[in-house]
Amino acid sequence: MAENSGGKKSNPATWRQGTQLVRGGQERTAFNETSEGLFLTSGYVYETADEAERAFKGDLDRYMYSRYANPTVAMFEKRLALLEGAKKCISTASGMAAVFAALASQLQAGDRVVASRALFGSCHYIINDQLPKFGIETVLVDGTDLDQWKQALSQKTQCVFMESPSNPSLEIIDIRAVSELAHEAGARVIVDNVFATPILQHPLELGADIVMYSATKHIDGQGRTMGGAILTSDMDFFDDQLTPFFRHTGPTLSPFNAWVMVKGLETLDVRIARHCENALAVAEFLSKQKGINKVLYPGLESHPQFELAMTQMSSGGTMVSFEVDGGKEAAFNFLNSLRLIDISNNLGDAKSLTTHPATTTHQRLTPEERHVIGISDGLVRLSVGLEDVDDLKEDLDQGLGQAKA
Ligand SMILES: *Cc1c(COP(=O)(O)O)cnc(C)c1O
Repeated sequence: MAENSGGKKSNPATWRQGTQLVRGGQERTAFNETSEGLFLTSGYVYETADEAERAFKGDLDRYMYSRYANPTVAMFEKRLALLEGAKKCISTASGMAAVFAALASQLQAGDRVVASRALFGSCHYIINDQLPKFGIETVLVDGTDLDQWKQALSQKTQCVFMESPSNPSLEIIDIRAVSELAHEAGARVIVDNVFATPILQHPLELGADIVMYSATKHIDGQGRTMGGAILTSDMDFFDDQLTPFFRHTGPTLSPFNAWVMVKGLETLDVRIARHCENALAVAEFLSKQKGINKVLYPGLESHPQFELAMTQMSSGGTMVSFEVDGGKEAAFNFLNSLRLIDISNNLGDAKSLTTHPATTTHQRLTPEERHVIGISDGLVRLSVGLEDVDDLKEDLDQGLGQAKA
């Protein structure tokens, strides 16, 4: 489609972040609509049979089928790529579809993957249960220990996968140092940047090769739609591996969801600032309460990797985890007493949401596997929303009062 920016000639690459979020990637139709158009169409018509032939040969660059590309989806991808500073973006139906496509598109039997062990439950499943079925060796390390990375990456490896901050233990990985080790071992580095969001951390600038998101979380930001994205500037990976895998296996984002996401990006920086401000205030508040063994928040000096977090992230983020004294029973009492904050395993929503990882998102893991990544029976994960922080503090306070009851 011809680019129609309503007669304006400004170059998007020179825009500052706030402008890219509002205007990046927009293509207007001949109707000159203000807001991004929603193209609910599966297919596209060709003027002639010859045109279809040329498109299928790759001699003509045009929309062919919405499993491959769609104008609304393309606006979302271009906007997110500008924000990330990546050459290319492919969006997917969910964050997990992005994780699986990023790995499966480039791996084959005999390959080796090294990953940090503090992973989201479904990422753990793909790396530990799925990839080995295809003859891929997977090695898990303590992501916070550079010596373990060094040892695991002392032999040839194809992919390194990590989550920083991790879900839900909020461990921080030195992305720059691990990327250097990975590149020496011949590996591409994939960073699951969901917790940091594209606002707070830029893994490609720190040396990573591929960044992925669950757009379901902060990018939608209001808990409506599922989506994901893979971003990279590695054109060999993008053209030869990811694009054909994506086109023929079909983890495509729906145009409607892309439209919600592209509107979500417009307010992402404003929302993240408020989420982070609330999260820091909640973390500081929780640190002073009785009945809590520890509070994990990368923006608190008490976090074991506070300094590293502050060098690679511009803020402590939107998530706070804490351990209620008294194990599962106390944690459940606390959750069940909340009057405002909802119990939900989703995160990155305008509404504050809390979950008990040991019995939900990480239930599939063995107790030993949970123990080594710091998921105790008293651990509670809180996605801090956009409400008035005083209402959140009051609710947490009264909930903690019931924890030991
Ligand atoms: C939610 C989440 C995912 C998966 O995203 P979906 O959109 O739910 O498929 C992957 N990684 C992390 C860190 C997440 O929090």
